[in-house]
Amino acid sequence: MLPLRITALLLIASVLACDRADEAPPRRWEFETMGTLAALELRGPVSEHEAEGMKRVEEAFRAVDSLMSTWDPNSELSRLNRAPVDSSLALSPLLGDCLARALALRTLTNGAFEPGAEPLMRLWGFYRREGRLPDPEALAELLPRLDDYDYEPDTRRFLRRSEEAAIDLGGVAKGFALDLAAAALLELGLDRAMIDLGGNLYCLGEAEAGRAWRVGIRDPLDRDRIFASLSLRDQAVATSGSYERFVTIDGKRYGHIMNPATGRPAEGLLSATVISEDATMGDGLATALFV
Ligand code: ADP
Ligand code: MG
Repeated sequence: MLPLRITALLLIASVLACDRADEAPPRRWEFETMGTLAALELRGPVSEHEAEGMKRVEEAFRAVDSLMSTWDPNSELSRLNRAPVDSSLALSPLLGDCLARALALRTLTNGAFEPGAEPLMRLWGFYRREGRLPDPEALAELLPRLDDYDYEPDTRRFLRRSEEAAIDLGGVAKGFALDLAAAALLELGLDRAMIDLGGNLYCLGEAEAGRAWRVGIRDPLDRDRIFASLSLRDQAVATSGSYERFVTIDGKRYGHIMNPATGRPAEGLLSATVISEDATMGDGLATALFV
């Protein structure tokens, strides 16, 4: 997850005015988390559990951030990436779950999604936000080592097999956090909500009785234009693009999604959007489809 100030979001929720007299007006909260802007909007009859719902959504995001941030040297993921080679480590249930989901995505996408892309991100300078062209030899040596790690979901034990191996869950973390947040809301009976995490959305239930949530997708080339409009019910939407997070090397822009087969930032596509019931899956697939 790259820390990011408030940038224009990839997606905007076109909040249609809710004029129906029998419906309470939308309730909306906004806050900063995971290096981006998050929002929660609740619709339907007002419930006594709304403040608690807001709190749990925020807690879910903070939990994911504190476990999986590659920026925070004290996150569980950062510690795991520094663990001695060949000594296995037990992961917390949440990090273990997310890594298991990421590995399933790796299998599903034939390695286009690679949780072990961390050393590539590092080599290209993404963590320093200062790009540099990697030495071709160093890159060629690194490629076969990207998957030099083992994870055993049943025991939640993780092991690095070489000094190079390291994990970055930035390709699924937002979706994973959205799934946690949506589950927390449902547990409280809050079943009509839109959760926005930096442009990754989860839409629970309906915006109005009989009417789905409407979400506009911005044109990647013209941010003032909506180029597609979606109707969502109990669905998440994730967009991956290279135009918002990039580094510039010798005047050329390089996006933050790596092609594990070449070791280079993926090129040739402006953005990929995935609609899914499972936000983790949608987020991971958007990243993989971009590759
Ligand atoms: P965003 O954080 O903007 O929603 P994505 O979901 O598209 O971005 O994921 C991009 C992030 O995924 C990168 O910043 C990096 O942390 C990680 N990543 C980069 N390349 C890959 C890859 N091939 N497979 C899995 N994760 C990747
Ligand atoms: Mg993604």
